[in-house]
Amino acid sequence: MRAFILFGPPGSGKGTQAKLLSSCLSVPHISTGDMLRERVRKANAGAGVADTMAAGELVSDELVNRMVEERLAEPDAREGFILDGYPRTVEQARYLLERLGKRGVGVVVIHLVVDYNVLIARITGRRECPRDGTLYNIYFRPPRVPGICDLDGTLLVARPDDTEAVVRERLEAYDRQSRPVLEWFEAQEIRPVTADADNLPPEALFERICRALKLTAPGTVLNR
Ligand code: AMP
Repeated sequence: MRAFILFGPPGSGKGTQAKLLSSCLSVPHISTGDMLRERVRKANAGAGVADTMAAGELVSDELVNRMVEERLAEPDAREGFILDGYPRTVEQARYLLERLGKRGVGVVVIHLVVDYNVLIARITGRRECPRDGTLYNIYFRPPRVPGICDLDGTLLVARPDDTEAVVRERLEAYDRQSRPVLEWFEAQEIRPVTADADNLPPEALFERICRALKLTAPGTVLNR
């Protein structure tokens, strides 16, 4: 049983790669961002969570740790799972590894590296189908008809935290709080597989990740 962790700044393609990996490996895609948005929609996220997310800051370790622990206890996560957007702080990483250690789970960290200017264009152009979750980008991956999902005709939406000002805050939060997680993993002898995800179409990047995972060579750098 293996835990796959998609790691990288906002807009690096974690969600897209996690979805591809999830259908390829038949293990669930667990996105803390999606789970939190769902809770906010249902108004059971807890006080201040919506505001924290809208400002591009991280919500408390305690909340996300509890959420992930509950989700990992569900039967579909027994054979493995893909974590997208978690862990994002050293405290979360410590919590996760402690729990996985008890279950004898092998951990694979995939680090997506993208230039910050590319990220800003990607994030501000991002649109999502609220019905089936299909992701588009008005610059790089537009739908056939502007604003409409190719698959089911639903009106596409932008996330409220995908504006440029909030993106800059989210990138800062990533640098400050999440980047140190990579060093912490290395200190635990979990060496991330690094993928240069700058200008690669998602499918090509996915192929590279798959190739590297079959080799399961820790510390592999996937060049363009
Ligand atoms: P994402 O969809 O992964 O970009 O997450 C959207 C927002 O949800 C982030 O900007 C945070 O406010 C919050 N969030 C998601 N995952 C975490 C996490 N692991 N720790 C703290 N906050 C999170």
